[in-house]
Order: sequence, then structure tokens, then C-alpha cells
Amino acid sequence: MRQKVRLGDSDNQLQSRFQQVTLAIATTCREANRADDSVDLLAVSKAKPREAIAELAQVGQRHFGENYLQEAIPKIEHLSSLQLVWHFIGSIQSNKSRDIAKNFDWVHTVDRERVARRLNDARSRSETPLNVCIQVNVDDEPQKSGTPHDRCEELATLVDELPYLSLRGLMVIPKPLHPVEDMRHAFARTKQLFDALKQDRPDSFDTLSMGMTEDYAIAIDEGATMIRLGTALFGPRR
Ligand SMILES: *Cc1c(COP(=O)(O)O)cnc(C)c1O
Repeated sequence: MRQKVRLGDSDNQLQSRFQQVTLAIATTCREANRADDSVDLLAVSKAKPREAIAELAQVGQRHFGENYLQEAIPKIEHLSSLQLVWHFIGSIQSNKSRDIAKNFDWVHTVDRERVARRLNDARSRSETPLNVCIQVNVDDEPQKSGTPHDRCEELATLVDELPYLSLRGLMVIPKPLHPVEDMRHAFARTKQLFDALKQDRPDSFDTLSMGMTEDYAIAIDEGATMIRLGTALFGPRR
């Protein structure tokens, strides 16, 4: 009995956070003169148990993001009957490309030719194409993952040619800058690049993945179409 009650409580907490987040997204959209449904929510479930994912799925969340392959594969397998959509958002070691392509529906962190080619090769003909975003190194930081801003077009053109990848858009993780205006600038710069690339790809290039718990309102204001929230939904990670 006791355990049942506790489970019920955590249920409520997760569900009420989900409702708050959904409401906050809608409010932010309206303030930015955007349609309520113009932003998709990606629930970042790294370091969270499969039970929490199943609970969120129960209230209608479909898209989940994971950073680490080893952690993600058992969750994906265990929850396969729920028909969730899985997004890989971690940095990619190219020797892991095969398993990523086999287990995920989306990859947000394509940042070099070798990875793109390997993902493409691993995706077999019988499957639907893998949805990919190019990760932009918007701050042009030498150590950071992501394609330098001025190389994105070249990589996009390459991905266009790969039959088992579907180029869906761009993803960015600006360095956590203060003041906030610098963050806004990084998002705005990514949006400009997104719009430029979209001109040649009007149909399928529709995803601008930017904004996390701390900065998603700014990201929505600057044109994000998918925000990636972990803490806001699941609470703090250890
Ligand atoms: C962990 C992570 C998130 C979620 O971060 P929160 O601040 O907890 O919302 C989003 N995107 C990426 C790439 C991450 O690694």
C-alpha cells in the first residue's frame, strides 16, 4: 500500500511539472507571436529511469532525448511497446554511429562528414531514413563539438546526397553565457543560418533544435522549433 501511494505522488509531481512546462511553452509562444503548436518538446531523459519516461508517455509526451548510447539502448528496448520517438543528442564517437543509427529515430549532433557517412551506411534500406540535424558550433569555440558556422552549408549539401539520412535542420548548444543578451545573439545567429539553408530545402528542413531548461524562453523568442528540456520536466539530475 505504502509503495503505491509513493508511486502516485511521484506521478503527480512529474505530471504537474509536465503541465507547467506545456503551459509555459504556450505562453511564451503567444508572447513571441507564434502559434502554440509551433514548438515541439523533446524530453531529455538522460540519468532518469525508464519508469519516469513511461509516466510522461502516459500523459502524451512522445519525443525523448538521450545522450549516452549505453544508457539509452536498454531504455529504448524496454519501452519499445510505447512507440516513442528517440532522439540522440550526445556527442558522437564515429565507432558508435552504427548503434546510434540502428536504435534512434533522430540524431541532433551530426557535425562532420565521417559521422554523416557512417550513420547513412548503417541505416539499412528497409528502414525509414534517419532524421538528422547538423550541430552548429555557433560560438566557433575550437574545443567544442559542432560544425563551424561557415562550414555548415557544405556539410548540409553532403547530407542532402546521402539517401538514408533526412536532413531536418540545425541544433545548437551555445555556451552558457551571461548576460542573457549574448545567449540571444547566439540563437539569433543560428536562426539566420537556418533560414538561409531552408531556402534551398523548403520541404523537409523544418527543425531548429535550441533551448534548454535555463534558456528555452529566449530560444522560442528567437525561433526555436524544438526545445530540449531535462531539468524542467524531470527535476535535477545527480
Ligand atoms: C542535458 C541536455 C539537455 C537538457 O538540459 P536541461 O538543462 O536539464 O534542460 C538538452 N540538450 C542537451 C544536448 C543536453 O545534453
